[in-house]
Amino acid sequence: MTNPLYDRLFGIHAGKDTPFLHLPDGTVISHAEFLDTAARIANALTGLGLEPGDRVAVQVQKSPEALALYAACVQAGLIFLPLNTAYTVDELTYFIENSGASLVVCDGASEAALAPIAQNAEAQLLTLNADGSGSLMRRALGMLPAFAPVARDEEDLAAFLYTSGTTGRSKGAMLTQKNLLSNAEMLAREWRFTENDVLLHALPIFHTHGLFVATNVVLATGGSMIFLPKFDLDDILRLMPGATTMMGVPTFYTRLLDDERFTRDLASHMRLFISGSAPLLAETHARFEERTGHRILERYGMTETNMNTSNPYDGERRAGTVGFPLPGVELKITDPETGEELPQGEIGLIEVRGPNVFKGYWQMPEKTAAELRENGFFITGDLGMIDEDGYVTIVGRNKDLIISGGYNIYPKEIELVLDEQPGVLESAVIGVPHPDFGETVLGIIVPEAGETPDLDAIMEAVGGSLARFKHPRKLILLDELPRNTMGKVQKNVLREAYKDLFQ
Ligand code: ATP
Ligand code: MG
Repeated sequence: MTNPLYDRLFGIHAGKDTPFLHLPDGTVISHAEFLDTAARIANALTGLGLEPGDRVAVQVQKSPEALALYAACVQAGLIFLPLNTAYTVDELTYFIENSGASLVVCDGASEAALAPIAQNAEAQLLTLNADGSGSLMRRALGMLPAFAPVARDEEDLAAFLYTSGTTGRSKGAMLTQKNLLSNAEMLAREWRFTENDVLLHALPIFHTHGLFVATNVVLATGGSMIFLPKFDLDDILRLMPGATTMMGVPTFYTRLLDDERFTRDLASHMRLFISGSAPLLAETHARFEERTGHRILERYGMTETNMNTSNPYDGERRAGTVGFPLPGVELKITDPETGEELPQGEIGLIEVRGPNVFKGYWQMPEKTAAELRENGFFITGDLGMIDEDGYVTIVGRNKDLIISGGYNIYPKEIELVLDEQPGVLESAVIGVPHPDFGETVLGIIVPEAGETPDLDAIMEAVGGSLARFKHPRKLILLDELPRNTMGKVQKNVLREAYKDLFQ
């Protein structure tokens, strides 16, 4: 009997007293200890009557026990369904009902509010707090630290991961064992992970980046993680000397660069810095190299596919690009209207196919049919192009494309010009309704600390470098851009806020 995902990520470490998790207080949890906890939880879960294929919805703080709950679900053949800790009780109702979860695991603080919702959905409810206390672990600690992995096929579902909801309501992506395993093993090879690596892990574990990319890659190779509850600059700076690699969203890197304590010396021993989940500005890439000598490796992926492209480990890591399609991943650029493949150099929809591509959206057959072609290609919704050397560049999301007076306008092109202007920290360009043009361009500018950018001068500068139809009709100053917990700019929030500006 086999369970490929369990066997190859977790089972291979059975009985090893090698370190797996280093906690900020200095505690070290070995592989064997971690697996014992997972097995106890697996016993507790099956003791509740859960059967293979049942969904376990989890909204808890990041902790070793929360990660062991993931391992336990894999071991018991349950479908792990992690949820963003920022979701409110109202939002959770949707996920619990939509997923048909049999068990909900939540923080003790939300138990009272969730109890009626769980009851309504006929789901059991257990608690797991940030310190590992709560009813889940109370049950688990009375169980045996051994559990025979439930037999699974590579095509069986291992997780439902909800998308970040950047462009609309989150969708539950059904991911198989093969989706997760093929990506983890391939990334480990591409990025040269070994058992000697220590990954600085400050990402959330309810999202593909921190859960599948980071954790699975480390598990596949037997290294360890410095496991931080969240991104805390002091902790990162204090603990970096013990790490060899870090994975982060772009804001991790800008925050490090904004701190003088982050020096070349501090980073000199590091093997690799990886960025993803949102675009890394070429400027950040350049500043990082200037400060540390390291070239950040940027990669591109999403909930539905895990990772699709990566800059090379050896060879040029090209700023502003997301590198090449990963081994086993086919990537093409297609015409959004016809679906025909476009020639190299043209902008179109990014489509991908490979063992990493999900099985479809849970209970959304129409959406699945619209985005997952019968030939296996997934229409990512991102616009991009491939340059003459094969590097893929993301131009933005199809939903953020501005169509003004019949012209296609790519916000990123304008944002790059705005970002370069004096006193500008960052910018977001959106399309808002306009009576004559259908949509028109609105530029939102975040000033650098203490600066007041001259908007007239910026308008003039834009006029010099971009065709007339791309000029923002108006520029607005804002203290910061709305971002979700993954650091993604929520343009739908901005579009909603300014929708009546020209009406
Ligand atoms: P939703 O699909 O619910 O609107 P989302 O697409 O933000 O939310 P995720 O699956 O977390 O949810 O994010 C995947 C998206 O993140 C990609 O489609 C892409 O737009 C963006 N992304 C990921 N990595 C990069 C990168 N390196 N550069 C630019 N964009 C990136
Ligand atoms: Mg998406």
